[in-house]
Amino acid sequence: MNKIIAANWKMHGNNNFVSDYFEFFTKNLKNKCNNEIIIFPSYLHLDKANIFKKKYNSFKLGAQSCHFNNKIAQTSSISADMLSDIGCDYVLVGHSEWRNNNDEKTISHILQNVLENNMVPIYCVGENLSEKENSKTESVIETQLKNIIDNSDLFNNKIVIAYEPVWAIGSGLTPEISVISFIHSYIKSKLLQKLPSLQEKDIMVLYGGSVNLKNTKEILKTNNVDGVLIGGASINIEEFTNICNEKL
Ligand code: PEP
Repeated sequence: MNKIIAANWKMHGNNNFVSDYFEFFTKNLKNKCNNEIIIFPSYLHLDKANIFKKKYNSFKLGAQSCHFNNKIAQTSSISADMLSDIGCDYVLVGHSEWRNNNDEKTISHILQNVLENNMVPIYCVGENLSEKENSKTESVIETQLKNIIDNSDLFNNKIVIAYEPVWAIGSGLTPEISVISFIHSYIKSKLLQKLPSLQEKDIMVLYGGSVNLKNTKEILKTNNVDGVLIGGASINIEEFTNICNEKL
């Protein structure tokens, strides 16, 4: 099966960056790259990125979050239907840099809005350092997965989870490969156990946290890893293009 390779630009980029990025990317992406590439620019750059998406058809577009409501008077917010209208295919839901200030109920509403607007959520889960040190990784993830299970009737047989240990994000640290494989398998088996109508092929689990050109290949070849979500290294267009061109 093809892998997902996703770039989370976070709060990075300007108009020139967007143009230079996609011109370089399209010129240098190898034809045989069968992976699904998803770019998550800031809200501000989605519209411009969508022009390149339509022109080159070489990547999908995603937003980094959205408001938990649609069509209410809420100054400064962006709704799921706006994102769908502007060309988004995916939305990150519950990224740890955002999850801290929001409760599980809010995250559940966001999931619903994303699904009702026909986009695919990439639902982020993962433990922080103290949870890891106290051997709570599985129980934290089990709690976080409840939102997926509770909203399972809205899914169209495609569930994408990103396992992102909070302590690995931006730190240069990654879990042992065997741990990544184990946690991905844990996520899949929990979902299959709770949602017996699903098949394993309906669930994709991406790994995120300090992925770069040096470690991508090993991570992508690991059992139960269906892709990667990349922050810092995705800002470097040469590095990101090389990651996408890796032969697996
Ligand atoms: C992220 O924030 O989703 C992420 C994976 O960041 P980084 O690759 O920089 O660790």
